[in-house]
Amino acid sequence: MSAEADGLDIPVVWSEDCLLHEPGGEVWLGVQDAGTEVPERATVILRALRDAGAPVLPASRHAIADLHSVHHPDLVAHLASIWADWEAGGYVSEYGRDRVVPYVFPTAAMLAGLPARVPAATHGRVGLYCYDTMTLIGPGSWEAIRAAADAALTAAELIATGYTATYALCRPPGHHAGPDGYGGSCYLNNAALAAEALRQAGASRVAVIDIDAHHGNGTQAVFYARPDVYYGSVHVDPGAGWFPHYMGFAAERGSGPGAGANRNLPVAPGTGDDRWLAAVARLCQDVQRHGAEAIVLSLGTDAAIADPESPLQVTAAGYRAAGELIGGLGPVTAVQEGGYHLPTLGEYVLATLAGLQSGQAAP
Ligand SMILES: [Zn+2]
Repeated sequence: MSAEADGLDIPVVWSEDCLLHEPGGEVWLGVQDAGTEVPERATVILRALRDAGAPVLPASRHAIADLHSVHHPDLVAHLASIWADWEAGGYVSEYGRDRVVPYVFPTAAMLAGLPARVPAATHGRVGLYCYDTMTLIGPGSWEAIRAAADAALTAAELIATGYTATYALCRPPGHHAGPDGYGGSCYLNNAALAAEALRQAGASRVAVIDIDAHHGNGTQAVFYARPDVYYGSVHVDPGAGWFPHYMGFAAERGSGPGAGANRNLPVAPGTGDDRWLAAVARLCQDVQRHGAEAIVLSLGTDAAIADPESPLQVTAAGYRAAGELIGGLGPVTAVQEGGYHLPTLGEYVLATLAGLQSGQAAP
């Protein structure tokens, strides 16, 4: 029986506050473009899932301290206060800078072995936390960032109440955000927060499967040295010239006690359903070997054929098949990551969740 015919039962955890983030585009290679991480992404997904019959549940507000399970308190405090500091500093009114954009970054080359101090100037301080120029902050950004984290935490907590699958409609996305820093249109790592919540709810081992078209460098960084949370990702090969460029390679397998609990399966630009699904199946085998009792699915649909942000060529049927494979592994909290082609975005997310539901129903 298809979930499309019977209706989607997976609850969608959502907060209207996720619409408040209007990054105002991105500065890419020195030029401010319109950008693709727009509020309409969330509204088209919500409409598609509602039309399929999915119940929509409100994200519940969590304490700031709950965000510290994954992120350094300094990063969280910075995200919460930087817009107010920016406005108070006259960057908008006096200098016409209507979004927070860093301009100097304390790279290893700049620091030359010295510790990174916290700069006195607000415009200097931004580069301490943000690692690129395309992840802008504006007036409603923090409200949305926090609401997205709330959605992920709520969706994970619902698993402990008996749901076998939940979906957090997070915006902004999160998998490029690490313990101490943000970038890649991500600020807090929603999927990592969900994985930690599942651990704290009693799952001794958790797996994050990341099917966004890009490597989730932030999630990898959070769990790289840990054996209890597996991270596995299929993504367009950074070695072929794709973001995040510096990591996401197959040789990155985890460190120390986490050795072996990290798997990157980069695929070539142009990869379609067959090879992409073979990679997803391999990640599922890993998860079974790892013994995860709960799964977080970093659900980016930017591997879609029409998506403007990646050269992968996966169909909606491919995403549905991935959902079926992952649904067979155990309870799943799906967390929205990327996906930018507004005309087909809802269809792809629905296909994946329908696949999850059908994979869990299978004997
Ligand atoms: Zn992506």
